[in-house]
Order: sequence, then C-alpha cells, then structure tokens
Amino acid sequence: MRYQRSSSLFKEAQAVIPGGVNSPVRAFKSVGGTPIFVERALGAYLHDEDGNKLIDYISSWGPMILGHAYSPVIDAIKEQANKGTSFGMPTALETEIATLALEMVPNMDKIRFVNSGTEACMSAVRLARGASGREKIIKFAGCYHGHSDAFLIQAGSGAVTFGSPSSPGVTKGTAQDTLLAPYNNLEAVEQLFLEYPDEIAAIIIEPVAGNMGCIPPIEGFLEGLRNLCDQYAAYFIFDEVMTGFRLAKGGAQELLGVKADIVTFGKVIGGGLPVGAFAARDEIMSHLAPDGPVYQAGTLSGNPLAMAAGLTMLQTLNNDDELFDRLAEKTKRLHHGLDAVLTTSQIPYQINRLGSMISVHFTDQPVTDFESAAKGNNPVFNQYFHGMLDEGIYLPPSAFESYFLNDALSNSDIDETIDAFKRVIKKLA
Ligand SMILES: *Cc1c(COP(=O)(O)O)cnc(C)c1O
Repeated sequence: MRYQRSSSLFKEAQAVIPGGVNSPVRAFKSVGGTPIFVERALGAYLHDEDGNKLIDYISSWGPMILGHAYSPVIDAIKEQANKGTSFGMPTALETEIATLALEMVPNMDKIRFVNSGTEACMSAVRLARGASGREKIIKFAGCYHGHSDAFLIQAGSGAVTFGSPSSPGVTKGTAQDTLLAPYNNLEAVEQLFLEYPDEIAAIIIEPVAGNMGCIPPIEGFLEGLRNLCDQYAAYFIFDEVMTGFRLAKGGAQELLGVKADIVTFGKVIGGGLPVGAFAARDEIMSHLAPDGPVYQAGTLSGNPLAMAAGLTMLQTLNNDDELFDRLAEKTKRLHHGLDAVLTTSQIPYQINRLGSMISVHFTDQPVTDFESAAKGNNPVFNQYFHGMLDEGIYLPPSAFESYFLNDALSNSDIDETIDAFKRVIKKLA
C-alpha cells in the first residue's frame, strides 16, 4: 500500500491541529506509522487519499452499523438540509426520534438529546448526583465514558494507549469523588459501598466493555451490581454509547437482561452525525431542567440534521428483525476464522466477542478486566495491525479498542480478511 498522500496531509495537519488529529487515537501513536486520511467511504469500504481501498472493521467506532453512506440516511439528511440546518427551537422530529428510541428501550420513560457520548455521560452523572443528593460515583478501571473530568480516572482506549490514564488538568477534588473498581470484580464494589454507604450517587459502567478491547461481563456481575445499587439506593447507569442499538434493539439491557436506572447513548443513535442522549425513568428525569433544578442545555442539541439521520437509522434497525443476528453471525464467522489461524501458530492469544463486537488480545491469560487486557503483547499487536493494514484491512489502531462490524460487510469480505490474516500471522510466527 502507498501512504504518500496521507503522510503529507498528516504533516500539514500537524502544523495547525494538535498532533494532526481531532481525537487522539486517530494519530496512530500506539501502533506507529502514518494515520490514513480518508477521502470517502461506501458500504463496507474506506477509500483513502492515496487511492487505497480498505475493508473497514471500525465503522467510525460504531455509528456506521449499516455501512458507510447508507442511502436512506443520506437522503434524510439532504431532505432536512433543504429545510434549514438549525433553529434553536423545538421540532416535531425530536419527538418522533424520542418516541421511537423509548419504544426500543422500553424501561425508560424520557430521553434528552445532546451532541456527543461525552455530554450524555457527563449529564447522566450530574442528574444522578442531583436526584440523589450524593456526590461520589463508582467507575471501573479501563471503562471509558468520554473525556469529561470525572471519568478521566483510569479511563480506557485513547487515554490508555496514550499513556495518560489520569490526565493532567483533572483536579484532585474531582478525582476524589470518582471511586474505582476493577471490571468484573463484584467484591471490590461491595467494599466501596461498605466504606461509603450513604455517599455513592451512582455506578456507571459499560455493560459490555469496549474501550479495553471487548470484555463481556462475567455471569452474575451486572446482576450483583444491580442488587448493590438497590440495597444502597444508588443509581445504576449503563453507558450504552457503544452497545446501544448495536447489541440488540434495546442494547445491552435487552441482550443481557439487566435493567439500569439511567442509560446513555451515542454513536449509532446519530446515524453518523454528532448525537448523544440519556434516558431515565420519570421520577429521575423530573429533576432535570426545565422541569427540575438539575441544569443541562445545548444550542445544537436535537439538531434537525442529526435527528433526521438518527431517526432514519433507528427506523431501519427497528424494522429489521434479523439485523442483530446477522451481525452476530458475521462476527462469529470472523472469530472462527481468526481462531483457526492462530491455533496453528505459536502466538499466545485470546479472542473476546459479543454480538458485533470482537477483539484479539496477544496474551495467554483470559482478558476479563483492564489489568489482564494490559498484559497483551504490544509489539506483536503493532506488527499485526500494520500487516493487516498492508493487506487492505482497517482494524482499530490500538490493542484497547474493539472492532465494530457493520451490515455491509459480506461473507466474502470476511473470508478475504481471514486469508490476509493467515499471511500476516505466518510472517509473525
Ligand atoms: C465513545 C464512547 C463515549 C464517548 O462518546 P463521544 O461521542 O466520543 O464523546 C462514551 N462512552 C462509551 C462507552 C464510548 O464508547
């Protein structure tokens, strides 16, 4: 593959944008080399500025679950654009997408739209604090809930591979209200509740972790957290920014059968435009402005272009009863293919998968939390990443990220990926 044009575009970008990117993981810091500059994308494929065609396993980190430039979504955006792109006034579209989202996530009564997953999680925690009158929250090491201060305590993905798990700029005061536990460790959370029985407003969790690779919850973990929240009158917040409208129509709550009190969304819900949202039951949401005193607002929140894209996306997902099974089948096909190649090599590995999320970890121990994810062999991962890239396969440029499959991927794309994988692993072994 040629990267000349990406390379020169990256140089130009670095002169005017910090690190040349608007979100750190895009800079390829952990895998090295030149970030790929995209020119356009269609279906399962990315087309870069050098004319390379890549099979995409990131799907814009999740949103493009139907593939790139999905035409009904594009048409909805065009149609809305002709009517105006922002009003700062209510529209019927907002009620329409809210109604559908709540139909798909039926244990929630109301939903508020924002502009990103970060905003959704930040607002959900403020709501939990405001409604409970308590200040502390529990988060899990390696879980990522966006870049707002309270969450940048052992956050996953970009914050990890970037080597700044606790970012400078986050105050000690903020950090002391965020309590930490290892993922999949119920006893650690129990201890925190014993230590601070009346101070914990909420537990926030990725019900299936996707920011330290893909790490599903072990049996009984989410159920145990649910019981602790009930016992200590704390709210249970599911950060479904990644899993919402991806693992099932009703997200992880539906797939895993555990109910949260507050749920956050992002990624898929915007159909590729910047949208986040948080939903809760009435008695919690009634604390939110303008009904209640907990303040939250946004000039571009509920933006009509974004709502048109999101609505069309959700309608498509809601009307297709086979979509999530189809995605899971494709992911299973990929899993089996990768597994068959790796078992014949000497390379220690683990593959984690749930629904359309999957990750490969180069370690011989099961990957169940951040500590075990961090034991992965980075040099091997980096060679694997670049080997696959040279074969025209675009994987997440970090060992701490999940792949996100999309519905445009065909079985032959997946088989092509497995063949490429065979060649790459042969060179590595
Ligand atoms: C991506 C992500 C976020 C942050 O969303 P942004 O839109 O990037 O602000 C929050 N939580 C989870 C689980 C995510 O995967």
